[in-house]
Amino acid sequence: MSKRVGIIGVGYVGLVTGACLAEVGHQVYGIDSNTAKIDMLHRGEVPIYEPGLDALIKKNMAEGRLAFGTDTAECVKRSDILFICVNTPPKENGQADLRYVELAARSIAQAMDGYRILVDKSTVPVHTGAKVRETIKRHNKAGLEFDIVSNPEFLREGSAVQDALKPDRIVVGVTSKRAARIMRELYEPFGAPIIVTDIESAEIIKHACNSFLAMKISFINSIATICEAAGANIDKVVEGMALDARIGGRFLQAGIGYGGSCFPKDVSAFIHISQELGYDFEILKAVEKVNAAQRTRFIKKIEETLWVVGDKTIGVLGLAFKPNTDDMRNAPSIDIIQTLQKEGAKVRAYDPVAMPNARRIFEGVEFCKDPYEVAHGADALVIVTEWDEFKALDLERVRALLNQPVIIDGRNVFDPARMDELGFIYKSVGR
Ligand code: NAD
Repeated sequence: MSKRVGIIGVGYVGLVTGACLAEVGHQVYGIDSNTAKIDMLHRGEVPIYEPGLDALIKKNMAEGRLAFGTDTAECVKRSDILFICVNTPPKENGQADLRYVELAARSIAQAMDGYRILVDKSTVPVHTGAKVRETIKRHNKAGLEFDIVSNPEFLREGSAVQDALKPDRIVVGVTSKRAARIMRELYEPFGAPIIVTDIESAEIIKHACNSFLAMKISFINSIATICEAAGANIDKVVEGMALDARIGGRFLQAGIGYGGSCFPKDVSAFIHISQELGYDFEILKAVEKVNAAQRTRFIKKIEETLWVVGDKTIGVLGLAFKPNTDDMRNAPSIDIIQTLQKEGAKVRAYDPVAMPNARRIFEGVEFCKDPYEVAHGADALVIVTEWDEFKALDLERVRALLNQPVIIDGRNVFDPARMDELGFIYKSVGR
């Protein structure tokens, strides 16, 4: 049964959610306060890089199921179910900044002319749903009926469309049978298991999932550090762990730690809300500490390999916080490049899609047209993001182009034995 869906905030999550809901037959109207984004969408351009998203948006706009605007009131008028997909950035102290959620809720309440379901899809600390309910009650002067739903999003940038069309599960936190029924109907075409909970549990599920995944990354990075000290090989250790069905192999990739717009802020927000609830979440504090140390250790590895970084030309491959996205939010490349620049290095860089966003962040970085131009005359290559394109590099050509055959690999892209055969001074993580 087709529903009328409104999306408040068409960023990474709102755009993908809206396009996928339209794709399964719902009528979707997305709005954003950033008019430049909406202008782009009206011109047929997609503001973010996400595989498959461009085609999905064009198709659903052309078929009349997906439209965009800037007016919240218009969105509320056109929709029965309103998804709040706004950003929830961290404050200085790690707490989630919920001002955009509050504003979205208030604007929806003021425009309501009948029953609506308000779905919180943004990642928020537990008890936000209750706060949104109070906000709607306060600003919906006519006392109209409404339901609040917590429906956390689990998509991963880089495979967001696939994740949203074929989710492992859909979590829906509700307080009424009516909202549960409507949300089941909305998501029925996706064919995924639907977990219906109370709102607080749904909110905690999202923080618990991201924190658990971040914990796996910090755990394996700690093991990698021990491997380096002990002369063991993290690849072999992971192989031996991953075949244990209780453990599994995913998120056990040693590297330079997690970045991006979600893990860092969600871990710190979870620590913060836990503290407010009277629990000192010590494990997560350690996860953060290990993650920060991992980046520092990597920079130190570059310094140790080059001895003096000042006046050296360092080529950086990969800028986005992970492959298949142009998202630079909290990308490890930022800390790494800025530290090298502070020490006097000249930095050249290449990323398959994130360079337009990276240009707005870095000063004095020379952006190159491909990895070979980066390597040309550089004193070392540093791999920061594991794009497939780098795995397929012609390494002999790279070695010939480099001033010195030095590669410091933060993502364990290459096989150390092969790099040795090719004559590289090759440093990676935990091997
Ligand atoms: P984003 O910054 O890309 O998008 C948020 C959008 O909301 C922006 O375009 C902004 O202009 C708009 N906005 C803010 N306030 C508004 C308002 N009052 N009215 C209209 N538009 C408004 O953020 P994102 O990455 O899409 O994340 C959104 C939420 O989803 C966050 O809570 C995030 O933690 C969560 N989340 C993100 C991901 C991800 O991979 N990016 C995955 C799961 C969950």
